[in-house]
Amino acid sequence: MFRHLQRKTSSSLKVTVSARPAIRPLPDIVEKLSRRKFNCPDCRKTFVVYHSPAFCVFSGRLETTSSVLEAISVARESLAMEDRIMDADQREDLRAAGVFDATARSIVEQFASHFESLFRHAFSTRVPEAESLIPAGGNPFQRAEFVESAMRADVGIDLPRELGVDTWERICLTIAKRHVLIHNGGIVDAKFLKTVSISQYEIGERLMITRQDADAALTDLERLVSILRMHGRSSATRSEPK
Ligand SMILES: [Zn+2]
Repeated sequence: MFRHLQRKTSSSLKVTVSARPAIRPLPDIVEKLSRRKFNCPDCRKTFVVYHSPAFCVFSGRLETTSSVLEAISVARESLAMEDRIMDADQREDLRAAGVFDATARSIVEQFASHFESLFRHAFSTRVPEAESLIPAGGNPFQRAEFVESAMRADVGIDLPRELGVDTWERICLTIAKRHVLIHNGGIVDAKFLKTVSISQYEIGERLMITRQDADAALTDLERLVSILRMHGRSSATRSEPK
């Protein structure tokens, strides 16, 4: 058996290299240019970002009010995009494709979730045993009436008074519009007409969201943030049950 193996391996193998191996270039490593400096509103330090940050490299997760302000600034950039397209034809093509309408619509759709996170956080951090006071289902912090009464009774902030009744009504309208967009395909229904006191709409009509509507929604969010910041966390004045 051993002899058999020896015989088998005795033949010689000659390897010749006729061509030099191809030299492939290494892939280029291109570092992204730093586009923007971010001034952390929480710790006041500055760092470079490539995207809209949810975290600060120094102080960690952004405060709820700060991350809402950051989302507002991104939304404002998106709204302003149409002004940056210098080619009029290109701009009108995009308008015809519904790109700008979609941006305005998505800002109104997102309004309620920013509204919810601002007030859920404000309520939970200012009210003792907040969890036991929050109704279990139905996203209570996306409902303007609930937020209005909870903030007045439990936190001591009267939103319609602080904002002005017109602004508060516009906020209620934005939330009602968002409901129509998300739950009724953007078609005005009886519930919407009941929620809003003055409306140019009729049942079955398509709800139009303009750039001005989106812009006003962002301004209203900024006002809500500044009211919450003005009141800090010390204003918790849980009213005693009567
Ligand atoms: Zn920070």
